[in-house]
Amino acid sequence: MNAMDFLKEFLHQKVPKSSEQMPEYYRKALLISEAILAFYYLANCVLLFLTQGEWKLFPVVVCVFVFLCLFNIEKMGPRTNLFCISMLIGLWLTWFVHMFGWAAGSPNILVPILSLTYFNIYVPPIWKIVCFLGLSAFRVSLFTYSLLHGAVGSLDHLANLCFQIINSIVPLLILTVNYILFSSSIQANERKLTIDNLELHMEASTDALTGLPNRRAMLYTIDRYQQANPNSSYCLAIADIDLFKRINDTYGHQCGDYTLKELANLFKSFTGTQYAVCRWGGEEFCFFMPNLNLDQAGTAMQELKEKTKNMPLHYGTVDFSITITIGVEEYDYHSTVEEVFERADKKLYIGKMQGRNIVVV
Ligand code: GH3
Ligand code: MG
Ligand code: MG
Repeated sequence: MNAMDFLKEFLHQKVPKSSEQMPEYYRKALLISEAILAFYYLANCVLLFLTQGEWKLFPVVVCVFVFLCLFNIEKMGPRTNLFCISMLIGLWLTWFVHMFGWAAGSPNILVPILSLTYFNIYVPPIWKIVCFLGLSAFRVSLFTYSLLHGAVGSLDHLANLCFQIINSIVPLLILTVNYILFSSSIQANERKLTIDNLELHMEASTDALTGLPNRRAMLYTIDRYQQANPNSSYCLAIADIDLFKRINDTYGHQCGDYTLKELANLFKSFTGTQYAVCRWGGEEFCFFMPNLNLDQAGTAMQELKEKTKNMPLHYGTVDFSITITIGVEEYDYHSTVEEVFERADKKLYIGKMQGRNIVVV
C-alpha cells in the first residue's frame, strides 16, 4: 500500500455517531489525562501566586473550567469534552506566553492534545489532520507573537525552573499514561482477534458431530502435502457405512448419530498420527495415507474394516454392530486429487455391488 492509498483509507474511516459506548481504554485515558491536567493547572495557579504575590484571575478561571470538564466527561461526551479541554489549554497558553514569554516550556502541554485526539474514535479523520495543522499553526503563531511583543512580566530563576519542571514532566506523564492504556488495549484486541480467528478456523475445518476434520480440511491437508512432496505418492480411501439408513430407520436418528461418533473415535485411534481421516459427508469417511502403496493401504483398510465389524455398539437397550465398505486408490503422479477420489468412489460402488463389508483395491 503506498502513502496515498494509506491516506485515502485513513480519511475514509467510519466514525461512530453515538458516544454511548465510549471504549473503556479511552474513557480511562481521558479521565486520567484530565485529572493530571487539572492538578497541573492548580499547581500553575499556586506557583503564580507564590512567585507573583497575588492570585491571577485568568489561570484560576481556566483551572476551575478544567475541573468542570474533568467531572463532566460522561455528560459532555468524548468529542465535546476533548474540544473544550483543548480550547482551555490554548487560552491558558496564550495568556501565559503573553504574560511570561516562551521560556518556561509551557507549550509542551499542547502535545497530549494530539495523542488524545488521534486515539479518540469519535473524531472524524479529517479533524485529526486539522488538529495537527491547527496545533502546529497555533504554536508557531504564539512563538512569533512572543518574539515580536516580548512578555508583559517576568519569572525569576527559581520560578522558571519550577515551571520548566512541571512543563517537562506533566506532558510526558500524560503521554506515558495514554500510551500504556492505548497499547495495552490494542494488544488485548489483537490477542482476542488471533484467538477468535483460530477458533473460527477450527470451526470451519471441523465436523461438528464427530469432531473429525471435514472435507475442506482434508483437501487442504492433501494440497499442502502435494506442495511439500511433489514427487511422492499417496493413497486415498473412501469408507461408507453399510445400510446405515436402516439404523436410522430402526433405532432412530439419535442412534445413527451415536454410531457415527463411535465410528469416528475408532477411526481416530486407528489412524493415529500415521494418516489423516475426515468425515467426507453423511456416513462417508475419507482416509489420506501418504507414503503407502496400494497394497499397504489395502492391508491397513482390511484391518480397519475388521475392527469396525467387531466394534460393539450399545444404544439404550439395543446392542448392534455395523460394517463398512471401502474403496482404495493410489495417486498415479498425473491425476488430479478429484480424479483419484472419483476412482476411489467407483471402487466403493463396486464393493457395494459385490455385497458390502468389503475392501476394493
Ligand atoms: P449403503 O450400504 O448402500 O451405503 O446404504 P445406506 O443406507 O448406508 O446408504 P444411503 O445413502 O441410502 O443412506 C445413507 C443414510 O445416512 C441416509 C441419511 O439419513 C444418513 N445420514 C447421513 N448423515 C447423517 C447424520 O449426520 N446422522 C444420521 N443419523 N444419519 C445420517
Ligand atoms: Mg453413502
Ligand atoms: Mg452407506
